[in-house]
Amino acid sequence: MTSVENIAIVGAGAMATHTLKVLLLSETPLRITVFEASEQAGCGMPYRAGTNADSMYCNAFSKEIPSITQPLVAWLHDQDDVFLERWDLERSDIDARVFYPRVMLGEYLQSEFDRLGELGRSGGHTIDVVTASKIVDVTPAGDHIVVSALTHNGEEQSPFTQVVLVTGHSWPSNPRIGSADLVSLAVHERHRSRTGANRSARFVAVRDRRHRRARAPRRGTSPWPDSAHQTARHAHRSGAVS
Ligand SMILES: Cc1cc2nc3c(=O)[nH]c(=O)nc-3n(C[C@H](O)[C@H](O)[C@H](O)COP(=O)(O)OP(=O)(O)OC[C@H]3O[C@@H](n4cnc5c(N)ncnc54)[C@H](O)[C@@H]3O)c2cc1C
Repeated sequence: MTSVENIAIVGAGAMATHTLKVLLLSETPLRITVFEASEQAGCGMPYRAGTNADSMYCNAFSKEIPSITQPLVAWLHDQDDVFLERWDLERSDIDARVFYPRVMLGEYLQSEFDRLGELGRSGGHTIDVVTASKIVDVTPAGDHIVVSALTHNGEEQSPFTQVVLVTGHSWPSNPRIGSADLVSLAVHERHRSRTGANRSARFVAVRDRRHRRARAPRRGTSPWPDSAHQTARHAHRSGAVS
């Protein structure tokens, strides 16, 4: 790397956070700007409230989720009782082999993204996070790269020496593809209409989790029945699970 790097990261999901983590190892102070199209930086699209219902689970258990500044379980232990109550989670239930809701994982990712930013700034790097800023063009121009962002103020252009594109998935504007319904919120609404509005999806989610744990053969092995676990892992590796 040359001495003055001015780096843009486009998209603020898990990939952006892990990119940032590696960039912050640089002994040379960096100027880093993270652009995020939505109002919320750090959690990424699949783990954002509004994209997923609270009852949708991450298909990787806690231990499989790479640590950022601390593992998910350590972060959960740091949360106050109000947070745990909001997720119907008891402190004694926090465990590295538990599957957690995607939106809860999003809160962890967002909090860790913020923390990483603070650590980077205190380490001498300049880090700007620009939300509600959708990158619409990236154009090489001589010794720099021009990034065009669509913001509330219209289109703005800025020059960078390096650009990292980590924009994740393209989500269709119409969530219905044939008979498939990609919006888990619709699942959530159907669930609520079947079970009654007073019974929260979170409660069901935690009950489900306890049920899975009750079926766990022994500590140190998968809490899933073999076939279900293998299917989930295979689908995850092949990118079929979302
Ligand atoms: C519905 C769904 C559920 C999933 N569930 C799981 C799971 O349970 N377990 C698992 O391991 N993986 C899951 N995945 C896979 C998932 O993609 C990864 O876990 C992870 O979210 C990928 O991170 P990312 O940073 O690449 O992308 P994302 O998390 O999608 O983040 C990309 C970010 O870029 C922003 N962005 C996009 N375009 C622009 C632009 N032009 N300008 C500025 N910002 C932009 C988006 O708003 C978003 O915040 C799921 C994927 C989907 C779609």
